[in-house]
Amino acid sequence: MPDTFTHTFDTPLFKGKTSFSTGLYIDGKWVDGVKGTTIDVVNPSTGKLITKISAGTKEDVDLAVAAAQKAFDTTWGLETPGTKRAELMNNLGNLMQKHHDELSALEALDNGKTFFWAKNVDVADSIGCIKYYAGWADKIQGKTIETTNGKLTYTRHEPIGVVGQIIPWNFPLLMMAWKIGPALATGNCIILKPSEFTALTAIRMAELIHEAGFPPGVVNIVTGYGSTVGQAISEHPHIEKVAFTGSTVVGRKIMAAAAQTNLKNVTLELGGKSPNIIFDDADIDQAVKFASHGIFWNQGQACSAGSRIFVQETIYDKFLQKFTEKAKSLKIGDPFGVDTYQGPQVSQQQFDRIMGYISSGKEQGATVHYGGKREGTEGYFIQPTIFTNTKPDMKIVQEEIFGPVGVVIKFKDDADVIRQANNSEYGLAAAVFSKNIDRALQVSHKLKAGTAWVNCVNQVHFQVPFGGYKQSGIGRELGEYALDNYTAIKAVQINFGGFDVE
Ligand code: NAD
Repeated sequence: MPDTFTHTFDTPLFKGKTSFSTGLYIDGKWVDGVKGTTIDVVNPSTGKLITKISAGTKEDVDLAVAAAQKAFDTTWGLETPGTKRAELMNNLGNLMQKHHDELSALEALDNGKTFFWAKNVDVADSIGCIKYYAGWADKIQGKTIETTNGKLTYTRHEPIGVVGQIIPWNFPLLMMAWKIGPALATGNCIILKPSEFTALTAIRMAELIHEAGFPPGVVNIVTGYGSTVGQAISEHPHIEKVAFTGSTVVGRKIMAAAAQTNLKNVTLELGGKSPNIIFDDADIDQAVKFASHGIFWNQGQACSAGSRIFVQETIYDKFLQKFTEKAKSLKIGDPFGVDTYQGPQVSQQQFDRIMGYISSGKEQGATVHYGGKREGTEGYFIQPTIFTNTKPDMKIVQEEIFGPVGVVIKFKDDADVIRQANNSEYGLAAAVFSKNIDRALQVSHKLKAGTAWVNCVNQVHFQVPFGGYKQSGIGRELGEYALDNYTAIKAVQINFGGFDVE
C-alpha cells in the first residue's frame, strides 16, 4: 500500500490540511510502483524534504496502458456519450473549485510559486479549462459531404485511443488541465506523467478524478523520471498519441522515440525566447509593468517569458530607469507571504542552471545592470536580473534561461526590430507595445511566433490556441483547435442511389 502524505498549512493566506496517497493511480486504484522505488519531493523555499512519491517504471506504464485500453474498449471511448463525458468533467471542475485553496497551497509548497498567483492563475485557469472542455464534450461533430449523385459521406471525429501526456514543472496543474481537458472531452484514455519535481497536484487530482466518477482506467497517473516513465510512454506501441510540454531537447527525444516504434502522433509545446518590443510611441508605464511581468512572473519560469526586451533607442534610457525601479520593487520571499511577488526557482538544478547563464553573460562581456545574485541563504531564490550591452550571439540572448533574467536591447526602427526579434531558433510568443495600432499590427504579423500580444504580455486563455513556430513546437493546444489533436477522422461513404461499381 502506498504511503499517505499529510500536511497542515498554517499561513496568513491559507490555513488547512491536505492528505493523499503518494502512489501511482492505475486502473482506478492507488498502487506502489512495481519496483517500489521512490523520488524525494523537495520544498524549493527551504531545500528540505516534503515527502516521497512513487518512482514508476516501464512495467507500471505497461499496466497503465492495459487498464486504459480496457477502459477505452468497455466504458469510455465510443461507449460513453458526450453528454456523460461532459457531466463527469463538470463534476471534476466542481471538485477542483471546492478544493481551490488546497490545490493552490499544494502548488505553492511544491513548486515555489506564490499562493496568490497559484490561486488566481494556475488553479483558476485549470478549473476554467476543464469546464470549457466539458462544454465541448457533446459538440464533437463531423460533416456531411455529398459527392456524386446517390453517394454521401459523413465524417466522424472519433477518439484516438490511449494517449500519453508528459508535462513539465513550471505550471504543474495548469499543464495537466490543458492536456486532460481536450483528451477527455473527445473520449480518449490517458496515461499522464507529471514532472518528477512537481507531482503533488497531479496526484491529488487523481483523487478528484476518482471522486468525480470517471470509470477506472480512463485517467492513469504514473509519476516517475523522464528517462524511465517518459521514455516508456514515448516508445509504447499501444499508445497512439503523445502530447508533450517541456524543453526542446526532450521534445526531440520524444519525437525520435515515437517515430521508431508505432509512428505515434506527436504534439510538442516547447521552449521560447520571446521578444517584447517597446516602441517610442508606447504608453511607457504600461510597457514597464508588462515587461516586468513578462520576464519576472513565475520566477521567469514561463515558456512564453518576454526574455528579450527590445526598446527603441529614443526611449531606451528612460525605459531602463523605470524598468529597473520596477525590478527593485518586486518582493522576493516566502510564496505564502501576503505581498510576495517572486518565490524560489523550482529546484537546485534550475538554480544552478540560471546562475550558470548569469556567469556566462558576464564572461561574454554583457553588463549586469541589476541583480545577478542569489537572494538569502536557504532555498533557490534569485534576484530579478537585467542585462544590458549584449551582442546578438551571446548565450543569454539566444538560449532559454528559464529564470528571472532579461536582456534589454536597443533598436532603431521597425525593420531593425523585426529582424532582431526573428533572429531566434524559437517562435513561441512575441509582444509589441505601441499606441499606433497600424504599426503594432503590421509588426505583429511579421513576427515568427505562435502568439503575438499587442500592448500586453503573458495573456493565455483556454479559449485561445497556444503553441509555437520553429523549434518552439508542433501543433496548438487550447481552444477548439486542441480537439483536433485528440480525434481521428473517419469518412463513412454510403451508396444510397443504387449505382454500381461501373
Ligand atoms: P523537461 O523537458 O526537462 O521535462 C518535461 C517533462 O519531460 C518532465 O515530465 C520530464 O520528466 C520528462 N522527460 C525528461 N526526459 C524525458 C525523456 N527522455 N523522454 C520522455 N520524457 C522525458 O522540461 P522542464 O524542465 O520540466 O520544463 C521546462 C521546459 O518546458 C522549458 O523549456 C519551457 O519552455 C517548456 N514549456 C513549454 C510550454 C509551452 O506551452 N510551449 C509550457 C511550459 C513549459
